[in-house]
Amino acid sequence: MEKKPGILVHLCCAPDALYVVSLLQESYEVTGFFYNPNIHPEEEYLLRLAETRKVADHLKFRLIEGDYDPESWLRLTEKFKNEPEKGRRCLICFAWRLDRTARKALEENIPLFTTIMSISPWKDAAVLNRIGRMTARKYRLEFLEANFKKKDGFNRSVIMSREFGLYRQNYCGCLYSRRPEKS
Ligand code: SF4
Repeated sequence: MEKKPGILVHLCCAPDALYVVSLLQESYEVTGFFYNPNIHPEEEYLLRLAETRKVADHLKFRLIEGDYDPESWLRLTEKFKNEPEKGRRCLICFAWRLDRTARKALEENIPLFTTIMSISPWKDAAVLNRIGRMTARKYRLEFLEANFKKKDGFNRSVIMSREFGLYRQNYCGCLYSRRPEKS
């Protein structure tokens, strides 16, 4: 059987990983990279990581666990703490995580990388793809552009993760995304 090309896939949470990685495994040899210093508090971070480990065991892919360095992330985004979701803080957050994913891909000698984040209805795939392309150029890598919410991707991930009994978070991840909505 022909060997599938390798890809390093940035994973932000288990429910999205379950659907997207199973899709990518049809064409690629997937290595997962959990790097999310944006997640607050640490307890939530550890829970999302533990759930992602379950998915890696189930789908049998290698999972690399990045550092959890929330202080650097907070310093980087502090200026934009009052921005709404999808604002400039999110652009920095995407760029930071994709930059670290690209560096990991270089370290691992995997020439292609991507992220599963475009599955979220609250995230603009065009923005993620643009940042991914720029990051890939910087490190002379390839970025797999995608919009995983297509073909009912988000709903399919909800169904699959419920069947699998995975924890589903109700906020994006950072301290600022936990703020109660104004009435
Ligand atoms: S809302 Fe989500 S994408 Fe935006 S900064 Fe917070 S964690 Fe990052």
